[in-house]
Amino acid sequence: MDAGSATFDCAIIGGGISGLQGAIQLGRYGHRVGVIDGGTGRSTLCQCYHNVLGWPDGISGPSLRQRGKEHALRLGVEFIDDWIRAVEPAAEGFTLTGQSGHTYQTRRLLLATGIVDTIPEIDGIVPRLGLTVYVCPDCDGYEVKDRETIVMGAGKAGVNMATTLTYWTRRITYIHDDTEPFDDEHKAQLDKLSIPYVEARITRVISDDPSKFEGVELADGRVIRGERAFIAYGGNWVNSDIVNSLGVKLHHNHHVLVDPRTKATSVKYLWAAGDVVAHSEQVTIAMGDGSQAAIWIHKSLMSPSTFPEKWPDPSTATAQS
Ligand SMILES: Cc1cc2nc3c(=O)[nH]c(=O)nc-3n(C[C@H](O)[C@H](O)[C@H](O)COP(=O)(O)OP(=O)(O)OC[C@H]3O[C@@H](n4cnc5c(N)ncnc54)[C@H](O)[C@@H]3O)c2cc1C
Repeated sequence: MDAGSATFDCAIIGGGISGLQGAIQLGRYGHRVGVIDGGTGRSTLCQCYHNVLGWPDGISGPSLRQRGKEHALRLGVEFIDDWIRAVEPAAEGFTLTGQSGHTYQTRRLLLATGIVDTIPEIDGIVPRLGLTVYVCPDCDGYEVKDRETIVMGAGKAGVNMATTLTYWTRRITYIHDDTEPFDDEHKAQLDKLSIPYVEARITRVISDDPSKFEGVELADGRVIRGERAFIAYGGNWVNSDIVNSLGVKLHHNHHVLVDPRTKATSVKYLWAAGDVVAHSEQVTIAMGDGSQAAIWIHKSLMSPSTFPEKWPDPSTATAQS
């Protein structure tokens, strides 16, 4: 396909969980759908989702993405490897410009760009994400139940993670891994819950098995042992900046505000789904968002003269949590 001249009924920016589920739903209506994806994202990082219906032993993000892509391809959905740099309004819809230099015309747009986690550059973290090193207590708190757990982090995010995890385990060691000194207020929060802490830079995960976690080595040569780990350095980034130029309404934390019934944003013909919307950043929520947005995109494509007149104002709604 000559991607540079494509005109879609609906373009989806982001081929992660929400984008793929939206593409499958839209593909089943027979619309011309293009998924434009940069190939990064949280679903490329997580090596095992544990809380998804139908997968009691877990499934990796890359595997779920591959299955989703194959499913969507069977429905005629088109996939384009590109990174969208700009979104501009067009006659009925939008013009997207990719890093490749190609432009894409679309009548409707689904933003499914997700968020970016702060992953520290510690040797051995990335291959263990979702297996033995985690980021989200709602997803993986269960995995550390009564286990010796190391929390690596910085600032408020790190301390909050350590205190939150006491719901599952009391066997926690917190490592303040930051260039900033560990402040007294945070130390007091940990003292109150008898959580031991160490102030040190972490150099690597110790274990020769790429899926296992046995502890970490610190810059001064010390070793802290543990069976599982969480990371929490703060500063996660919501990928909503690409639609800022359209004047879309955002929550104060940069999540895109959507109408809860339709997933429509404050901008006509623009929908959003997944982690870029929901603070409860989870696979099943991303899937639900993608489907829900697709259903309303279909309604809008079928009756453009009526649906836009009822365009919702999500600024009266709060961001999902
Ligand atoms: C380590 C880890 C463990 C996790 N464990 C769990 C778990 O156990 N259970 C659970 O439910 N959830 C878990 N999650 C969360 C889950 O991965 C996310 O909720 C899910 O991936 C959200 O899907 P999404 O489609 O919104 O975003 P993503 O899956 O992140 O996909 C976004 C896509 O958009 C693309 N993109 C972004 N901007 C652009 C652009 N400008 N142009 C083109 N493409 C773009 C990216 O390349 C990416 O492919 C985990 C996350 C991490 C990081």
